[in-house]
Amino acid sequence: MGHKVDFACRACRYEERDLGVGRGRRPWPVLRLFRCDNCRSVGSAWVDEGGLARCSLCYHDDIVLLPDDAASVACPKCEERGVFTHHLGETWE
Ligand SMILES: [Zn+2]
Ligand SMILES: [Zn+2]
Repeated sequence: MGHKVDFACRACRYEERDLGVGRGRRPWPVLRLFRCDNCRSVGSAWVDEGGLARCSLCYHDDIVLLPDDAASVACPKCEERGVFTHHLGETWE
């Protein structure tokens, strides 16, 4: 089962809520957190078995995949440190 994640940057107030991460009922594809420097956003995207991933917003294919348990990442908008809040109790399948 996957869980839900919120991203928030206190410096510029950019935030993304309810990002899905992890696996559903099937082993592939999986939802991974990413940072896209093309459209300067953080989100979650489906990654297939081959590992190919595209930004779910601008479809750019050169995104930075983050660990499922990432605690923070440089904010794509302002480069300050943004924080992930993991809601492990909020699962999806
Ligand atoms: Zn920011
Ligand atoms: Zn993008």
